[in-house]
Amino acid sequence: MKTVRVLTLGLVLAAASVGLRAQPPAVGAGATSAPFWTGITDAGSFERAMDARLAHARETLDRLLAVTAARTLENTLRPLDDVLLDLDAVSSQAGLIQSVHPDEKMRQTAEQVSQKAGTLATQVSLNRGAYDAIAALDVSRGDAETKYYVQRTLRDFRLAGVDKDEPTRNKIQALRDELVLIGQDFDRNIRTDLRKVTAKSAAELDGLPADYIARHKPADDGTITLTIDYPDSLPVFSYAKREDLRKRMYMEYNNRAYPANMAVLDKMIAKRAELASLIGYPNWASYITADKMVETAKNASDFVDRIVAASGPKAEREYQVVLKRKQQDVPGAAVVNAWESSYYAELVRKANYDFDSQSVRPYFAFDSVKQGLLDVTGKLFGVTYKQVKDVAVWDPSVEAYEMWEKGRLVGRFYLDMHPRPNKYNHAAQFGIRTGVEGRQIPEAALICNLPGGQPGDPGLMTHDDVTTFFHEFGHLVHSLLAGHHSWIGISGISTEQDFVEAPSQMLEEWTWDPATLATFAKHYQTKEPIPAALVRQMRRASEFGKALGVRQQMIYAKLSLSVYDRDPRQVDTTALVKELTTKYRPYPYVEGTHFQTSFGHLDGYSAVYYTYMWSLVIAKDMFAQFNRNNLLDAEVARKYRDTILAPGGSKPAAQLVRDFLGRPFDFRAWEAWLNREEQ
Ligand SMILES: [Zn+2]
Repeated sequence: MKTVRVLTLGLVLAAASVGLRAQPPAVGAGATSAPFWTGITDAGSFERAMDARLAHARETLDRLLAVTAARTLENTLRPLDDVLLDLDAVSSQAGLIQSVHPDEKMRQTAEQVSQKAGTLATQVSLNRGAYDAIAALDVSRGDAETKYYVQRTLRDFRLAGVDKDEPTRNKIQALRDELVLIGQDFDRNIRTDLRKVTAKSAAELDGLPADYIARHKPADDGTITLTIDYPDSLPVFSYAKREDLRKRMYMEYNNRAYPANMAVLDKMIAKRAELASLIGYPNWASYITADKMVETAKNASDFVDRIVAASGPKAEREYQVVLKRKQQDVPGAAVVNAWESSYYAELVRKANYDFDSQSVRPYFAFDSVKQGLLDVTGKLFGVTYKQVKDVAVWDPSVEAYEMWEKGRLVGRFYLDMHPRPNKYNHAAQFGIRTGVEGRQIPEAALICNLPGGQPGDPGLMTHDDVTTFFHEFGHLVHSLLAGHHSWIGISGISTEQDFVEAPSQMLEEWTWDPATLATFAKHYQTKEPIPAALVRQMRRASEFGKALGVRQQMIYAKLSLSVYDRDPRQVDTTALVKELTTKYRPYPYVEGTHFQTSFGHLDGYSAVYYTYMWSLVIAKDMFAQFNRNNLLDAEVARKYRDTILAPGGSKPAAQLVRDFLGRPFDFRAWEAWLNREEQ
C-alpha cells in the first residue's frame, strides 16, 4: 500500500482555487519575522491577531484603490502584494491550526478564521478596480521577475472571474465561500472519524512485529484495540497472519468518513462544476488545469492513459507472482484480494528477494533518521540547522528549528511528527508564512504520523516511513529556499501545482542510497551502520510491485479527473471507484468500501491528482543528472538548488526544468525506472 502523501500549500492552494497566488509582506503591521505562534495563548488571542491582519489587508486594498496618480509598482503592485502577504499568513496559519491544534475550541476558531480569509481572498480576486489598476501598470522598466509576476497576476484575476458582470461575480463569491465550508466539513469528517478495530486476543496479532504487540496491551477483558491511523493499520496489512484481522482493518480503513462525506463530496463536485461554468469553462477539470504545466484536462487524461499503458505488462507479471505466492497457502486460489495484496507482496519479497522489511527497522529509529535527514540535506544544499527551544508552539511535542546559511537566517520550521487524537492523519508540509527578502523570513511545518514520540519507544520506522519523512522535507526545503524574492506572489512554493511534487519526490531517492544511509541508519542498540548488502537487498525487493503501485496511483488520478470532468448529475463516486479499480488494478474492488470519502485530495487537489505522477516523471529526469556514485556531491545539488528550488514561482516551471536539464523533460528516465528489473 502506498501512503497517500499530501502537500498542503496553505494559501497557494487556496489561491489556486481563488485564482490569486497569495503571499506578500505587509508594511507595518503585516510583516514580521518572529515565530508565528508568539503571544498566542488561547482561541481569543489567535482570533484577534488574525482579525487584525485581515483588517490591515482591507486597509491596504483601499489604499491601492484610492490612488489617483499614474499607476506605479510602488503605489499599486506593492500594496496588492502586501494584501496577499496578510492573506497568506492568516490563511496558512489558520489552515495549520485547524488541522493540528489539540484544543477543539482553537480548531473551531481557526476554521472560522479560514472562512474569513477565504472570503477576503475571493473579494480581492474579483475586485475589478484592483485588476484595472494592475492592468494599467507600465512594467517595461521592471525586472524579469516583476514582469512575469504582473502578467501571471492578470491571468489569475481573469481565471478568478474578475471580468464577469457584477451579478456573476456575486454568484462566484457565494460559491467560493460555500466551497470553503464544504472543504472544511470534508476534512473535519476525515480527521475526526476515529474508527477502531478490536482484536479478541493477543493471538489475533500473530505475525505483527514484537514492538507493535508491546505497544498494544490487552484490556482487562483480553481484547486489543487498534486504530486505523498509519502506525496501527499499515503493519496489519503487511504482516498480520490472520486474514480476518486484515480484512476488518481494510473495511474500516476504506470507510473512514463514510457515510458522512458521501453527500459532502457530491456537493463539492456540484458546486465546483457550477463555478467553472460561471467562469466560462465546460467543467471544473478544464478550469483547474488551465494554469498548470499540463494546460488542459485532455492532456492530463492523455497523460494518465500513457502511464496506464506503460505500466500494463509489468503490473500483470507482478500480479501473477503475488497470486502464485497466495496459491502456496491457498491451493487453487483464483484471485488476490485487496486486503491480501500487501501481505502476499511482503511474503514474495521475503521468499524471492530474501528481504524482510522488518529487518531494516532497527536501523531507522526516529531520532537518528531525523538527525540524518538534517545532515544530508544540510550538506546537499549548503545550509545548517539549529534547534531553538524558546519558540512558542501549538503542542508541547512540536520542535522548532532554524535553517542558516553563512550567518544568514534562511527560515524557521516546525516538526510535529507523531500521531495525536484529532490531528491531521496523513503526512504533509504546511506553509505558515511565505518569505519575502528583507521583510520576513519563511516558516513552514511538517505534520506527520510516524512511530515514536512516546517515552521508551525508540520509534523504529519502516523504510517507507523514512521515505515519507524525506519527501515532506523536500517540500519544506523548497519552501524555505524559495522564500527570498521581493514579491510574495512569486516567492515560496508558488510554482505550478503539477510541478510541486517534483522536488519532494526527488529527495526520496536519497533514502535508497547505501552511502547516504550508512551515515545515519545505525542499529538502535548496537549502533552499527546498516550493512550495504541489506540496502542492496531492500532495493532489489523494492523493484517488485512498482508497476502495481503505479496502477494504484492512476486509479487516484483518473478518479480525481473523472469526478470533475463531467456533468455532476452523472457522477456516482462509488460506481467510478469500482469502475476504475476494475480497469486499472488486478485486485478486485471490495464491495462496501468507499475510500473516496477519506481521499482528502479530492478537496485540496480536486481534479489534479495526476500531478504526483507528472512530477515523478520530472523528478526521475532531474535525478538522472546526479552522480549515482556520489549522491552527496554538492556540485549538481547546488545547481539544482539555484535553478529549481530557489527560483520558487518567479519563472514558469517548464523554464526552471530547462534551466536545470538544458532541455525540456522527457519520459526516458521514468520508463527506465519503471522497467528496471531486480539484478
Ligand atoms: Zn508531496
